[in-house]
Amino acid sequence: MSNAPILLTPGPLTTSIRTRQAMLVDWGSWDRDFNQLTASVCEQLLAIIDGSASHHCVPLQGSGTFAVEAAIGTLVPRDGKVLVLINGAYGQRLAKICKVLGRNYSTFETAEDQPTTAADVDRLLAADPAITHVALIHCETSTGILNPLPEIAQVIKGHGKRLIIDAMSSFGALPIDARAIPFEALIAASGKCLEGVPGMGFVFAEKTALAAAEGNAHSLAMDLHDQHAYMAKTGQWRFTPPTHVVAALHEALQQYNEEGGLPARHQRYADNCKTLLDGMAAIGLRSFLPAAIQAPIIVTFHAPKDPRYQFKDFYERVKAKGFILYPGKLTQVETFRVGCIGVVGADGMQAAVNAVAEVLREMEVLDI
Ligand SMILES: *Cc1c(COP(=O)(O)O)cnc(C)c1O
Repeated sequence: MSNAPILLTPGPLTTSIRTRQAMLVDWGSWDRDFNQLTASVCEQLLAIIDGSASHHCVPLQGSGTFAVEAAIGTLVPRDGKVLVLINGAYGQRLAKICKVLGRNYSTFETAEDQPTTAADVDRLLAADPAITHVALIHCETSTGILNPLPEIAQVIKGHGKRLIIDAMSSFGALPIDARAIPFEALIAASGKCLEGVPGMGFVFAEKTALAAAEGNAHSLAMDLHDQHAYMAKTGQWRFTPPTHVVAALHEALQQYNEEGGLPARHQRYADNCKTLLDGMAAIGLRSFLPAAIQAPIIVTFHAPKDPRYQFKDFYERVKAKGFILYPGKLTQVETFRVGCIGVVGADGMQAAVNAVAEVLREMEVLDI
């Protein structure tokens, strides 16, 4: 469908025809060919972080949050304590997961335009020896802010604590090397920077930690230890796998590698982000974050001040011109967001900027 709008959102996002065509085959979940597909996907995912020596890749049915919940529920023992680092809605969600699962936790919150620093984490860990794990959002998708993962990871290691990273919106585009960055778990999903379709998450879990996690989980379906043990033994998923999603991800990974892997994906998104920022600045639309802490994943813009601007009307008009934008997620300021990820290049981003400019003219929004 060439007239389908381009999704400038943080997932689901625009996928290639090849990726969508890979879903035209029905697979038997018990079949050797499908098991090989799963094994190949996991192997390729591990290769992206150079993690095959240290980590297992455990796939899980469901959206990204399912995998985050499974990682916390499986890897944090019931008498553990999680320090949750928050500067946006996904950090808040991590704390809520700990609460619902009955895991002891504390939170540290900075403003939505303020990264958590390694010094903060150092101080917090020194003050509370009961903490066993730290949970961090790499790129906080609610604004697009990038938290300093390598520095924070080293501090956590220095304290002998364990790190759980929600890298949902950064994995595949921003470099994370398991040999250089110590972490117990890193969580991502099929439908973000890998440009697959949504429907499965995956957790890179440290082999030793996963082996020690038997019996931790509060849930049968969300038990990553069990999921991994069964898959290692049989090659199969424990329960009905999202077969078409796995096939699409396999095809998406093939294109990822053809494009040039992580460096190429990162470069394309960085170019997208720059085209977007420059183009919107030329219209007069200001981004919420300073460039130094802006990840090339999604950009938050201040909404125009003009009372003729209404997000819903703006959204519908931009959609009619072929682009799906994303609402803002900030409580204090009126914003909207534009994603830089998916099967789209700098030309597409420039076309989106042009559409936004035309729509603001149509709406007679003058006070930007
Ligand atoms: C997308 C995303 C998730 C997962 O959200 P789902 O709606 O469950 O897929 C989690 N964390 C971050 C940072 C995300 O961007």
